[in-house]
Amino acid sequence: MSMKKVFNYSPNFDSNKRKSNQIKFLIFHYTGMKKEIDAINRLTKIQSEVSSHYLIKKNGTIMVMVPDLYVAWHAGKSSWKSFKSLNKNSIGIEISNPGHEHTYINFSKKQIQSILYLSKSLIKKYNIKSSNVLGHSDIAPFRKKDPGEKFPWKHLSKLGVGKWHTLSNKILKKNRMKKININEEKNFFKNLFMIGYSKKVLNKKTLVSAFQRRYRQNLINGKIDQECLLISKNLAK
Ligand SMILES: [Zn+2]
Repeated sequence: MSMKKVFNYSPNFDSNKRKSNQIKFLIFHYTGMKKEIDAINRLTKIQSEVSSHYLIKKNGTIMVMVPDLYVAWHAGKSSWKSFKSLNKNSIGIEISNPGHEHTYINFSKKQIQSILYLSKSLIKKYNIKSSNVLGHSDIAPFRKKDPGEKFPWKHLSKLGVGKWHTLSNKILKKNRMKKININEEKNFFKNLFMIGYSKKVLNKKTLVSAFQRRYRQNLINGKIDQECLLISKNLAK
């Protein structure tokens, strides 16, 4: 399968070229702007000081903005496991979607096809671990919500893009909204740190919500329940 790519370069990147083995992460974003054209303009305008390697339009077109071997400015202050400021070690993919601050909509089928095609080729090319395929909200949970709970993580993981748990829907439902005790709460956060989330917890509820946006997408309430605990255990092992 080949997909249509268009080129619209951004001036916003580090001038030093990196080595391909420095690329260890794939980070997904949504653009978070009402109009797609405004997002494209922002990511290619020098004054904005932001960019990403790729942008996936609503119609599925893949727009190349920064070549892989240059560091794009998409992640900002961020961390995952022992990595900090993930720009230098990652490839950023922006997906056109107005986001939570406007009208957060489902990603289109064509976008999902392009996400799959592009991600699979990058994962193969740079040998990226499935546990290093992440959302912006995973690496900056106190600042960011993107790509959000409508991002098809489960579907993508089945096709080789990113990590997902191995628990059945039946088990999940049975444990949803069931209370946890203090020890279990401690264990939940330990699991999150093992998965890779920041150890600096600025706000518990916000971190729990970030985890839910990624792994328990049908209930984002910022509250740890037995379902969240089970999922975290399953992923941390
Ligand atoms: Zn983002």
